[in-house]
Amino acid sequence: MEESVFAALSDDMVLSIFAKLEDDPRHWARVASVCSRFFYLIRHFCWKNKCWETFPTLIGDSPSTWSSLLKLAVCCPGLHHAGVPALPDCPRRSPHLASGNWDLRREQGCKLLARQFRDDCLLICDWPGCVHSHEKRNYMLFRGVFRNFKATGVWRTIIDDKRRMVDIHCAFCSSPHTWDLHSAFCLRRGFGYHLDGEPVVRAYVCQNGHVSGAWTHVPLFS
Ligand SMILES: [Zn+2]
Ligand SMILES: [Zn+2]
Repeated sequence: MEESVFAALSDDMVLSIFAKLEDDPRHWARVASVCSRFFYLIRHFCWKNKCWETFPTLIGDSPSTWSSLLKLAVCCPGLHHAGVPALPDCPRRSPHLASGNWDLRREQGCKLLARQFRDDCLLICDWPGCVHSHEKRNYMLFRGVFRNFKATGVWRTIIDDKRRMVDIHCAFCSSPHTWDLHSAFCLRRGFGYHLDGEPVVRAYVCQNGHVSGAWTHVPLFS
């Protein structure tokens, strides 16, 4: 897109054009990278309004800002944030624009959490997730957010058990560390392990309730 074509148009007119690109979150992310005016308009109008419209309860009840929610909607966290050591030559070793839509759904989050956390609301987007091929196996990367995280059973468990944070920073906000939900026994039992000891499902959560994780197919012979 050429900005010069838009220079003569008012912000309102440009925004009405951008509104037509709303269906896929990636469109706005791409437009925002064209120039500073587009970035400003997308960030302060399109994204902000969309987040208020799509995630009103999340914006209202958690410290997550709308920009973190936006990242959650449009970015795959990449292998590192899901706790999988990325290969040096892996072209997708960091967060990247993901496919999908604006949905955040609770159904899959319920399946991931251990039974005692069934009242916690973990919203997941883009399930089954973005596939990253690795040396050993394919990982499906997922992302999500806990509603009202500091009132959840998961939060109480990791705080009461004094779980140590791990050195993986959040892909969606500035939290420098996260907790490993797998080793804190917050994920559903029964996902199992591969023969090399790697868990079939792993996930990390930051202090603001943002979740990045990866799952693999269950080994057939276990
Ligand atoms: Zn990805
Ligand atoms: Zn975060």
